[in-house]
Amino acid sequence: MAFLVPCPDCGNREAAEFSYGGESNRRPAPGAAAAELARYLFFRRNVAGTQVEWWYHRDGCQRWFLARRDTRSNLIEETYWPEQRAAHRA
Ligand SMILES: [Zn+2]
Repeated sequence: MAFLVPCPDCGNREAAEFSYGGESNRRPAPGAAAAELARYLFFRRNVAGTQVEWWYHRDGCQRWFLARRDTRSNLIEETYWPEQRAAHRA
């Protein structure tokens, strides 16, 4: 499905220019239980709705960023750099 991804650096571009990096999940603290680490590494929430994801602008600025996307409509509500993440957490 073709849709636009607003790269924070380059603006709106076709999704085909990007690589999808998967859901953004909070990394377990050092010393976390093996079950928590396995959940972080191997399980995805796969929500029908809004989630935060990693995207890489492969054919553009070649930078990773975060996007809040509605998985039902593919509409991206916002994009931002990883260092801005704390300001965007709900
Ligand atoms: Zn870009």
